[in-house]
Amino acid sequence: RLPILAVDGPAGAGKSTVTRRAAQALGLQYLDTGAMYRAVTWWCLENNLDLRDEPAVVEAIAHCQLRLESSDPHQPTRVWINDREVSQAIRSLEVTQRVSQVAALRGVRRLMVRQQRAIGANGGIAAEGRDIGTHVFPEAGLKIFLTASPAERAQRRWQELQQQGQCDLSYEELLAQITARDTADQQRTYAPFRKAADAIEICTDNLGIDEVVSKIVHLYR
Ligand code: C5P
Repeated sequence: RLPILAVDGPAGAGKSTVTRRAAQALGLQYLDTGAMYRAVTWWCLENNLDLRDEPAVVEAIAHCQLRLESSDPHQPTRVWINDREVSQAIRSLEVTQRVSQVAALRGVRRLMVRQQRAIGANGGIAAEGRDIGTHVFPEAGLKIFLTASPAERAQRRWQELQQQGQCDLSYEELLAQITARDTADQQRTYAPFRKAADAIEICTDNLGIDEVVSKIVHLYR
């Protein structure tokens, strides 16, 4: 077993906030693997690649230099691809709608997983994503499967967007988007998104962030 905290779960379950805070409390390095898939998706869209052309997409991504920085535990991960900062751009509606398609490609996953394993080679990381406990770090010391009902996840996301003044989607549209992304991630053939058999499931519907974080910190210790 490795000194690694693996947090997996569906879109909008609060993985980022929770994992970031738990990492800080436990003195682990935080790794947002979703940000990596988002960044390479942004790159493909920026360069007008046909996402159905797997060899072209994989070839382009193989030449990409990704850099992640998570020094501030209260801010999302900052991301650079080939020295361009894309921290905001990777959260756009377009990237969100396309990322599952890129993440389903076997060659793309191979490249991302190789980098993730290199970052966690000596342990000491808290990684969040969809396949951390099942595929990237099956030997992780603690695996958490963080969930919330689709309605709750869409509600939280909607409130977040309202606060940021971005209300281009209705609650119903957000709910549909979240469910579509979950289904796509679960149905891909290579390293599909699912709960690891030995993961501990935490449903956050009626829990505050602090409660979830302290639960995880307690379990890890
Ligand atoms: O977590 P986040 O919503 O940023 O992830 C964006 C997308 O990246 C997911 O919907 C999924 O398609 C992909 N992803 C993945 N494996 C991971 C992390 C993210 O396939 N470990």
